[in-house]
This record gives sequence, structure tokens and C-alpha cells, in this order.
Amino acid sequence: MKTAVITGANRGIGLELARQLVDRGYRVIAVCRKASPALKALEVQVEEGIDITDRDSLRELADRLSGRRIDLLVNNAGVLIPSTLENIEDELDNWRAQYEVNALAPLRVTHALINHLINGGKVVIISSRVGSIADNGSGGAWGYRLSKAAANMAGMNLAHELKDREIAVGLLHPGFVRTDMTGGRGDVEPAEAAAGLVERIDELSMETTGSFRHANGETLPW
Ligand code: NDP
Repeated sequence: MKTAVITGANRGIGLELARQLVDRGYRVIAVCRKASPALKALEVQVEEGIDITDRDSLRELADRLSGRRIDLLVNNAGVLIPSTLENIEDELDNWRAQYEVNALAPLRVTHALINHLINGGKVVIISSRVGSIADNGSGGAWGYRLSKAAANMAGMNLAHELKDREIAVGLLHPGFVRTDMTGGRGDVEPAEAAAGLVERIDELSMETTGSFRHANGETLPW
């Protein structure tokens, strides 16, 4: 039985990923700050009280999972805070917070769990197409866009870093999904997005490591 670790598994896309990976036969370790009733209802191992931007939390997570072999790590947790260039000086803390969660935390979580990951395993970062420079047709969402562009670079660098261990790294865009992050707006429900993400995770291999793909199968431009 394969083991998957998912961050931000208490709600939204992460919760659906947890549900669907269980259905696929994975043993799921659901990482979150606070477990929701919906997460507790799943047959998963819940690791609560973990803030992925906090050094002690990451150490604690690695300790709690000591001796566990991880086949798949899904860095899903993320944050979107509206931000404008006009107010950059007042909003800098928000920009930094988004960079911490969206760009640095996937790297820090991967680093914290690197010895638990099996050779031949997979690491996924749930990025966003708004992190694509080539696809930026509207501007705006400054702090979020910058952080997701950095997340893309983090994923590509990780793909190179982990090649020796044959760990494949994928950057995935879930689509425009109806969650708390989007205020319930979007084109698809979390279940549909998660189904596409799980298919893309299945396809991820050393041949496609370092790729940036939409849950619907499209390859996205950088
Ligand atoms: P939600 O806002 O529904 O969920 C965000 C999750 O991230 C929550 O579980 C939240 O935990 C967790 N999280 C945020 N900050 C931290 C932290 N410091 N430590 C631990 N956990 C944290 O968002 P979605 O489900 O919509 O988004 C999931 C991922 O998909 C994100 O990376 C997002 O950027 C990406 N994405 C989403 C899109 C969409 O349309 N929804 C589009 C493109 C990308 P808590 O409940 O404790 O706050």
C-alpha cells in the first residue's frame, strides 16, 4: 500500500485529494493546522497542529512520521490575499505571507520530509496558472502571482535536485475551483479538480519530471 502526505487537507482541494487518494488505495497522511469534521470522517491519519511556515512545526511533522516511507507528497496548502501595486507598502506583509506559504513552504515541507520519501517517489506542488509569466493576460493579484511564479521555479529546481533519487516532481494547476479561496466562484467543484489532479499524478514520471500541467491534461506555458 502506498503512502501519500497532503498539506492543507482539511478543506477545499486538499480535502478532496485526501478522499480520492484513499479511494485509490493510498494510505493518506492528512496534514493541517486544524482538522475539519469532514476530514475526521475520512479513513486517514490526521496530523493536526502543523503550520507549514513554522520551523518547529516542520520538525514536529518529521518526528511524528519518523520511520514512515512516503511514496507521494502533495504540497497543496496555499493562500490568496488580494493585493495591489498602489498599496504595496501597506500590503507588504500580505505579499510576504503569500510567498511564505505558496513558494517557500512547499520547499520546506519537502526538505523536512526528504528522508522519508522513497527513491522513485513523487512530489507535487499545487501551483496555479496565474504563476505563469507567459499566460499572464490580465495582471493583478500581485502577491499571489509572484508567489506562484516562485513556486514554479521551486518545483523545477526540485525536479533537478531529486533526479538522482528518481523522484519525479510535478507542478499542477487545479483549474478555477469553487473553494473558500475563490469565495465559492469557479468553473469546477473540488471533486472534479481533484479527479484531474489524481490522473496527472498517476501520469507523472521521470520522463515528465519538471512539467507544469493543468488538471485537465493541458501542458501549461511557463
Ligand atoms: P482553500 O483556501 O480552500 O484551502 C487552503 C488550504 O491551505 C487550507 O487547508 C489551509 O488551512 C491551508 N493553509 C494555508 N496556510 C497554511 C499554513 N500556514 N499552514 C498550513 N496550512 C495552511 O484553497 P484551495 O483548496 O482552493 O487551494 C488549494 C491549492 O490550490 C492552493 O495552493 C491554491 O493556491 C491552489 N489553487 C487554487 C485554485 C482555485 O481556483 N481554488 C486555482 C489555482 C490554484 P487552514 O484551514 O488552516 O487555513
